[in-house]
Amino acid sequence: MAGAHGSEWEELSRQIRGCVRCPLHTERTHAVVYRGGERPWVVFIGEAPGVAEDRTGEPFVGRAGKKLDEGIERLGLEPNEYGIVNVLKCRPPENRFVVDAARTCRPYLERQLALLSPRAVVTLGRWALRSMDPEAPPIMTAAGIPRSSGPWKVFPLLHPSAIRSRATAERWERDLGTLAGWLEKKRR
Ligand code: URA
Repeated sequence: MAGAHGSEWEELSRQIRGCVRCPLHTERTHAVVYRGGERPWVVFIGEAPGVAEDRTGEPFVGRAGKKLDEGIERLGLEPNEYGIVNVLKCRPPENRFVVDAARTCRPYLERQLALLSPRAVVTLGRWALRSMDPEAPPIMTAAGIPRSSGPWKVFPLLHPSAIRSRATAERWERDLGTLAGWLEKKRR
């Protein structure tokens, strides 16, 4: 991303790309920082990079990304209106979320949100929800219902890669519809 958020964003991105604070850095090809507009008012938070993201350095560019992009298109968001980040910046082994690494990564996510300052945050899956709100109920209960977390207005969705059955596909569609209405109220 170009420097709309100025040198602080550039410096933060540099720190993330060079991070050696936890063991995940030893296996990575690229740390994954951000994809999206320069001044997004909606930020999507995923869990962790997968193979495609590790290879390219961009979040959600694999199969889950295709599903997410379709959903975002249905929400009617223009490319400059949203951004995508992850809780973990480096790919975990076998794509298994690593809670300890999330604790180490946490300041990066907090700083990204502070600099982007979105009006709406959409979490994807249980780990993203938990990282925003450790007290949140299980994802199948929380998804589709807006909540607050500190200063952030948060809308939990299932993770796109969890859509593997008719029931989860229907739930995804339903929650996207609710999210569209919620975002409409937040749009200036
Ligand atoms: N899944 C995620 O949670 N994040 C990505 O960047 C890709 C897949």
